Amino acid sequence: MHRTHTCGELRLEDLNEKVTLAGWVQRVRNKGGLVWVDLRDRYGITQLIFEEGEVEASMLKEAGALGREFVVQAEGTVIERTAKNDRIPTGDIEIRVSRLEVLNKAKVPPFIIEDDTDGGEDLRMKYRYLDLRRNVIREKLHLRHKMMQETRKYMDAKNFMEVETPVLIKSTPEGARDFVVPSRIHSGEFYALPQSPQTFKQLLMVSGFDRYFQIVKCFRDEDLRADRQPEFTQIDCEMSFVEQEDILEIFEGMIRHLFKAVKGVDLEEVARMTYADAMRLYGNDKPDLRFGMPFIDLTAEAQGKGFNVFDNAELVVGICAGGAAEYTRKQLDELTNWVKRPQIGAKGLVYVKCHVDGTFKSSVDKFYSQDDLKDWAEKAGAVPGDLLLVLSGELQATRKQLSELRLKMGEALGLRDKFTYKPLWVLDFPLLEWDEETSRFHAMHHPFTSPKKEDIPLLDSDPGKVRANAYDLVINGVEIGGGSIRIHDKETQKLMFKHLGFTEAEAQSQFGFLMEAFEYGAPPHGGIAFGFDRLCAIFGGSDSIRDYIAFPKNNAGRDVMINSPSIISGEQLEELSIAILEKKDK
Ligand code: ASP
Repeated sequence: MHRTHTCGELRLEDLNEKVTLAGWVQRVRNKGGLVWVDLRDRYGITQLIFEEGEVEASMLKEAGALGREFVVQAEGTVIERTAKNDRIPTGDIEIRVSRLEVLNKAKVPPFIIEDDTDGGEDLRMKYRYLDLRRNVIREKLHLRHKMMQETRKYMDAKNFMEVETPVLIKSTPEGARDFVVPSRIHSGEFYALPQSPQTFKQLLMVSGFDRYFQIVKCFRDEDLRADRQPEFTQIDCEMSFVEQEDILEIFEGMIRHLFKAVKGVDLEEVARMTYADAMRLYGNDKPDLRFGMPFIDLTAEAQGKGFNVFDNAELVVGICAGGAAEYTRKQLDELTNWVKRPQIGAKGLVYVKCHVDGTFKSSVDKFYSQDDLKDWAEKAGAVPGDLLLVLSGELQATRKQLSELRLKMGEALGLRDKFTYKPLWVLDFPLLEWDEETSRFHAMHHPFTSPKKEDIPLLDSDPGKVRANAYDLVINGVEIGGGSIRIHDKETQKLMFKHLGFTEAEAQSQFGFLMEAFEYGAPPHGGIAFGFDRLCAIFGGSDSIRDYIAFPKNNAGRDVMINSPSIISGEQLEELSIAILEKKDK
């Protein structure tokens, strides 16, 4: 063994012990006759001391010349420090070194390997293995590790069996593009990487596995955002002989277990809301419930008073920002400009200040009397000192805009504390979603989701109205999981494919295996999958999932450390019978 102890281990109780440590040089302080070296490993930092008279001059010199990140081994005796450091657990002791060996030298690192580093994101990603030496990053991966272990513990205790499913498969539609892998042996044919193990986990139910889970990599070729990676990890689950309620209960239990075991937090009861209510009250299918500020429909009150903008709108809707009546002209102008940005797309913003003296001041005073505004305020439950912010226009677009404004106001008023957790089940999602671009319906969740029985007749008459047995788990406005009760009979599955615009032949060629399996005794089943990286980010209080992935891709989908994706050789292409038509400009 290169060491008897780690660098985080020794305390006053170990005084006079002969020890050997090994690790990286964090810092050297050279005072001539006295040299201190901070030695670091995964477990902590221990101070080494080299003192003139106590060690040979050559060793003193060698210690003083150690560079940052040199890998060294030091043998010596544990002594009590004269100047103690109460910021680190080993701060009462130091090691009087009797033998020093440089195990490996290191080039000067491209950035400082400390909690506060001078390295920018790009540089840190290029040298991610050095970035990972930093405590702050390692702690994030440790959190991830704990979440994984606790997930497995809970699932195992509930009788779930972890089964691996293949990575080289054929397309599973989850709404994104597939990453494909060319086959050398079957020239001209391709595997697809799983967007999720959806069909396999359903087949495992047909096999009688009853309770399945897997912590699994999924791959989706879609536009990247801060909380998306082309490859990401899911806690993927499926159960047989269950109804929606059983699934909600088991997985509420899982989330509660994780919060307790990993963070020591007793998670409050998971609230429930239908999709329709979420859209009506928050304009969003993943509402952030750390604060209220629900939408107030003012259409009836606002129309018919001569204000054209409102009269011509499908929806007039507002929020009540508590205590914000003092907002200045400048702040209101800023908000107005903010909602008018193309990313939000509102035409304008109407405000009503509810003054403490009981009067109202609005941007539409020309059209509305004090009594009118009082009606609005009453409907909104506004009290003196509050500010109403009102948008209008086409229903869906206006809801979306106001949802953005609500989140912004929540942020501005300090209502989105990242260590307050508000979990929510959103239920009864629509089965289908109209897609303007392709002018047809898409499965809102995926094509294997079962419609609510009572809504099946609507499939022909009003497909957009059909509700699904589908649910999402949302925490603090972030969708962290989603699933559904599945279709488990061939006829309903065929009907579903038909409504999604598949010809019978297409459905057969892509999903014939699943429909056939349904003919061999498929149990009723359902499941859910959680975005594991997102869950870790929520637990860690970070907006970026990248922090919780050891080797993430950057926001252009590149791994800048290994330089991937990259071109492959002509021979490789030839072996795969692939010709590159044109190289698209980046
Ligand atoms: N496969 C689904 C997804 O990845 C989850 C599920 O329905 O279980 O979103």
